[in-house]
Amino acid sequence: MAGMLYLVPTPIGNLGDISPRCRETLEQADFIAAEDTRVSLKLLNHLGIKKSLVSYYEHNKAQKGMQIVERILAGETCALVSDAGSPAISDPGEDLVKQCAEAGIVVCAIPGPCAVITALSISGQSTGRFCFEGFLSTSKKSRREHLESLKDEQRTMIFYEAPHKLCATLDSLQEVFGAERPISLCRELTKLHEEVIRTTIGGAIAYYETQPPKGEFVLVVAGAVPAEKQTVTTQDAKTRVTQLIAQGLSRKDAIKQTAQELKLPKNAVYEAALEDD
Ligand code: SAM
Repeated sequence: MAGMLYLVPTPIGNLGDISPRCRETLEQADFIAAEDTRVSLKLLNHLGIKKSLVSYYEHNKAQKGMQIVERILAGETCALVSDAGSPAISDPGEDLVKQCAEAGIVVCAIPGPCAVITALSISGQSTGRFCFEGFLSTSKKSRREHLESLKDEQRTMIFYEAPHKLCATLDSLQEVFGAERPISLCRELTKLHEEVIRTTIGGAIAYYETQPPKGEFVLVVAGAVPAEKQTVTTQDAKTRVTQLIAQGLSRKDAIKQTAQELKLPKNAVYEAALEDD
């Protein structure tokens, strides 16, 4: 009789978030596959659980995956954990689940901590429809291509981000979505210094110019507003013309560019620009 694979979520910051079912599964499994055995050992020590650990991470997963599948087929039960949160979500584990499914092994996912859902729920953005985009590339070109593919995305978009890459990512987000797009920066979730900054992409860039980013981030970016729903006011047109003139454009060019950007007839922008003058 084959064993099973359990996906066991672990706390993303607050150790109190380990559920009784997760604890029980870790206690009862024959062995635990862990992304970083040192990190998981600390958790197991905290829980008072002694169990055989095998490492399963990005660079050994092809070979280790096969060994784990063989052990499960031989009747053992494996609990898979990652460093934090739900295994297989931007974590090693995705491939192990595929391998087990292909081998006919039953896979059971225990619900629990996951940074993407925790962030979305407190973001203050629309939660009805969303897409999770994981980590953006460190290469500017690939990051830009990824974001360009989301240019017209209307669902709320969620990204994972590391502090040292945050500013470059915010710059790329601004290039594609504009400075006014709402964003919630969810930092150090469930930890002592948990913080949610609900602002615009431009506001976030300005904030982190003086405040070095620290801790782990989830970025929740509002989706695009469908063109027919956008209500561009006369004031918006006037403000944009003033901004562009301040940036050095002639009045004529500022009106032309504003009309293009806001998809308005040129004469409407011209009249808006004259208002209150
Ligand atoms: N599997 C994990 C999960 O279920 O959320 C995600 C693992 S991924 C390798 C790590 C990323 O998750 C971090 O770079 C950060 O973007 C996000 N993350 C994890 N813990 C977090 C926390 N406490 N606060 C904010 N973001 C967190």
